[in-house]
Amino acid sequence: MRVAFLGLGIMGRPMAANLVKAGHDVTVWNRTPGKTVDGARVAASPAEAAGVADVVWICVSDTAAVDSVLFGANGAESALREGMVVVDSSTISPARTREIAEQLAARGVAHLDAPVTGSKIGAEAATLIFIVGGEEATIAKVEPLFQAMGKLYKHMGGHAMGQAAKLALNLQIALIFEGFAEAMALATKLGVEPARLIDLIGSTMIRSGVTDYKAPFVLKRDYSPNFPLRLMHKDIHLALDAAREARVKLPGLETVDEIYEVAHDEGQDDLDYAATLMLLEKWAGVEVGAAAGQ
Ligand code: NAP
Repeated sequence: MRVAFLGLGIMGRPMAANLVKAGHDVTVWNRTPGKTVDGARVAASPAEAAGVADVVWICVSDTAAVDSVLFGANGAESALREGMVVVDSSTISPARTREIAEQLAARGVAHLDAPVTGSKIGAEAATLIFIVGGEEATIAKVEPLFQAMGKLYKHMGGHAMGQAAKLALNLQIALIFEGFAEAMALATKLGVEPARLIDLIGSTMIRSGVTDYKAPFVLKRDYSPNFPLRLMHKDIHLALDAAREARVKLPGLETVDEIYEVAHDEGQDDLDYAATLMLLEKWAGVEVGAAAGQ
């Protein structure tokens, strides 16, 4: 299949590479020049990439970035032809997603929102899970591309239901990790060896995918970005905005947002979101990872 892949960040680059590996004809574009994918053509603009493709796949930071690559100067929209499919794997506003799907439908172009879960490791290993909103018939057209980049996809309903479900997932990740981080800070301060607490958590019903994934990084004090804090913060704001529009109260997430505001002020935006633990450590006067090595 001829695919234009727009956005070669932590997620997009390995996703595009897996499309090439699966034998698809891939043209890539990235805002900052210099990022490439072996075996893929490089386009000078989103429009140029879309001009030689049947499917446009987007994976950029946020709602403004998606608007820019589609509708900005030399945006993909100017090169779209009837019958094409646009798939958006960025995590963005559900409300704006619904509008984009309508704008493209007016041009005879189908749209799917297909945000992902699985993080950097899942993108590299082609084990992502796509959380999809849109028409069944459109999904069928691009199914081989989902297979090339992921282990499964879940169809959540019509346009924007993928984005809505993705926000519901990340809301939980933010709260689960915060609970884990607070437990680590408290137990460490009380004298429990962090590695022993993690071992205990692993044997109990408290164990989760989030704690399994993050515990080794926490013990090593490795806060290099798998999922950058700035992007989790963006998702927290997307969830709070959607909640406000739908008149849903999210007191837990509002509190966690305050912690992310402090992390932002402390310059932690480009670290992994697990770095919120560093604030708890500072406030408690204890180092969780360092204590593990004692
Ligand atoms: P990232 O490494 O920060 O990459 C962001 C990409 O978006 C880069 O290619 C960047 O281009 C591009 N971009 C940003 N603003 C732009 C603009 N105004 N116009 C055009 N391009 C722009 O982010 P990522 O981790 O790949 O995440 C991409 C999306 O997937 C986000 O929506 C994120 O929430 C979601 N996601 C991430 C993860 C994860 O674990 N990382 C997991 C699930 C979902 P430049 O190179 O020019 O900056």
